[in-house]
Amino acid sequence: MAQQPPPIPEKFANRPLPGPRTRSYQWLGTIPLVLAHVVCLGALWTGATWQDWAVCVFLYFARMFAVTGAYHRYFSHRTFKTSRWFQFVLAFWAQTSSQRGALWWAAHHRDHHKFSDTPWDVHSPVRKGFWYSHIGWIYDYNEDTNYNRVRDLSKYPELVWLNKYWLVPPVALGLLVYATMGLSGLLVGFLLSTVILWHGTFTINSLAHVWGSRRYETTDTSRNNFWLALITMGEGWHNNHHHHMMSTRQGFYWWEIDMTYYILKAMSWVGLVWDLRPPPASVYAPQEKVVQASEPEMLPVDAEVQPAA
Ligand SMILES: [Zn+2]
Ligand SMILES: [Zn+2]
Repeated sequence: MAQQPPPIPEKFANRPLPGPRTRSYQWLGTIPLVLAHVVCLGALWTGATWQDWAVCVFLYFARMFAVTGAYHRYFSHRTFKTSRWFQFVLAFWAQTSSQRGALWWAAHHRDHHKFSDTPWDVHSPVRKGFWYSHIGWIYDYNEDTNYNRVRDLSKYPELVWLNKYWLVPPVALGLLVYATMGLSGLLVGFLLSTVILWHGTFTINSLAHVWGSRRYETTDTSRNNFWLALITMGEGWHNNHHHHMMSTRQGFYWWEIDMTYYILKAMSWVGLVWDLRPPPASVYAPQEKVVQASEPEMLPVDAEVQPAA
């Protein structure tokens, strides 16, 4: 799987390389993560009913939809529009996945697109290896939310509040599952599905830049992968996404299964969301050699709140 990192794009030629770490790796911070994995084994003693497993599967896919439809396609890229109240619902729902606040997630993800596979990318498998890009980076670059990166979102106090108290949604969901299904429901229905959901999400950082095919010559190493698209409800079309990140739909062809897009489309029929952005006609000319979009193009929302001088 060893792969050479791509050359640093010219626009970053004069950018100083990341300096030496000012603090050591946060080993203590990994304790809740390790515990979450270990505690799932408690299901062996409590026993698990078929209802617990059904909730496990349901909560995996219901929350994977929120990770890709809310954290990623809405908050990070603003590929569609919605109302203020439903925006809050999307943030709350996504945060039940226990992947920190929607604003933190979006700010990090915007950096990933800006610096993909360069030395400033916080989770590039071709520079940092599989495990670091899969999970290690979270305990290394775990700085607070860069609100400058998400000014379009931080003007909503309710989102800032939820971002600060990011554990409220997962704790609320965990308590609800415990109250209705007991300990085995909590361990299998909630906790195990949360752990699997973490790894499902992390495959896009670790595997979707090394495993699969490349339709577009983007300046990063992103790839399209059918299997990753299945387990992540459409995120596996990652090369498509890096090529044109403002499209709501990541499977550009009918055979590129993109469950998140189908659900968002259905939501648009009942007026919950609207103005879903289609891929531009140019993406259907597969031979075109493209240079990755410049920052203002990739994040029009930044340009909107921070007009060019
Ligand atoms: Zn990527
Ligand atoms: Zn993205």
